[in-house]
Amino acid sequence: MAGIATGCRLLALGFWPDKAQSPKPKVQSLSLLLLAMLAWPAHASAQGDSSGQKFGKLLLGGATGLVLHESGHMIADWAFEEKVVVKKVGWKGVPFFALSHANNLSPRREFTVSSAGFWSQWLYSEQILSHHPDLHHEHSPFRKGVLTFHVVTLMIYSGAAFAKTGPLERDTHGMATSIHINERWLGALLLAPAALDTYRYFHPAAAWAVWTSRGVKMGSVALVLK
Ligand SMILES: [Zn+2]
Repeated sequence: MAGIATGCRLLALGFWPDKAQSPKPKVQSLSLLLLAMLAWPAHASAQGDSSGQKFGKLLLGGATGLVLHESGHMIADWAFEEKVVVKKVGWKGVPFFALSHANNLSPRREFTVSSAGFWSQWLYSEQILSHHPDLHHEHSPFRKGVLTFHVVTLMIYSGAAFAKTGPLERDTHGMATSIHINERWLGALLLAPAALDTYRYFHPAAAWAVWTSRGVKMGSVALVLK
């Protein structure tokens, strides 16, 4: 799309300044945040947390989910040697920020960069649900926070895709325009794993839900071949 900053798109409750001509400091601070979160002893001292600590770990898990989503975009950008620029965007008065790059990628690469945040979510949601099938009964607010971000983000993006609304920098818009597909199909492709992964959380023994979710996720990745 001419004139549109294509590339990594994200939703967030805040925004970063628009004057990041040199994105390095932002990238570095994101990386440091990611490292700090990965180093967080989520599995340790699981018992005995106060409700405040539990809530804090839940929020930290959600923030980690966001960082992992954005990291997916950044890794794809770096793989294609694209310079990432943090850009402030807004929609109906709600501030967002987006990681963008120059509009010079091939459609397939553009689809990859736009999808990479979801691909990151496919990986970490499968890691969590596969290794902690009984998460519902575990005391693990951090992982529950990560998984909550995963599901809520999919639902928000799915709603935006169905309504074809939101900032032009949204991931589904970039995906749809790059491979010439109706954005509403992408809405369905995101809503399915959101529903299925939620079902898996409460019914871990449902093999059909596990494999249907994995199939939809793999199918959405395969669209890169379209
Ligand atoms: Zn994104």
